[in-house]
Amino acid sequence: MEKTEFFICKCHDISHQLVLETLEPTEDEERVVYGCFHIVHLEFWDKLKSATKYLFGRKRKDGDFDALLLRPEDADRMEWFANFLDGGVSATDKAVAPFYFTFSSKENVYDVALEFYQYKLNDGSIQTEYEMSVCVSLKPGNILYRLYRAAKYLSGYRSCYGDFDSFEFLPVDAAKLRSMVSGLRAC
Ligand SMILES: [Zn+2]
Repeated sequence: MEKTEFFICKCHDISHQLVLETLEPTEDEERVVYGCFHIVHLEFWDKLKSATKYLFGRKRKDGDFDALLLRPEDADRMEWFANFLDGGVSATDKAVAPFYFTFSSKENVYDVALEFYQYKLNDGSIQTEYEMSVCVSLKPGNILYRLYRAAKYLSGYRSCYGDFDSFEFLPVDAAKLRSMVSGLRAC
């Protein structure tokens, strides 16, 4: 089964997206889900700001770029990839508490978080809202490496996979996709 699905950010900038993809596995081949990431479109001066903060090693809560907020209606499409990886042996539940984990590609670190926010409505009741986000940070390194990455980013470099290199989820990583789905079901 070959499949490609796009997970577009809640911000509705359709270039801000996570892409998951599978290739038809041959019989004895391990199943792999390939992923890539497209960051939000920024004007040059904002790009320069992001690049400078990275260059000086400034860590930001939302990573080096804006957080991608996954949409609850995409839960089922994402679950398909978890089932593809583990053969559907485990079920996805609905997250009951906030969580956080990371995964990486060769070039970047991805922070995945389910967070909740509470706010007061006009009638005085408290409303809780959940948010499933994926934030990307360029990997830290020495100043030469950071210069190289910042220059590459500013020059508008893109790989054939997206804005960066691609990452892979193997069958052992199915749980990561499942927790993202469970987070989305809580939203
Ligand atoms: Zn966005």
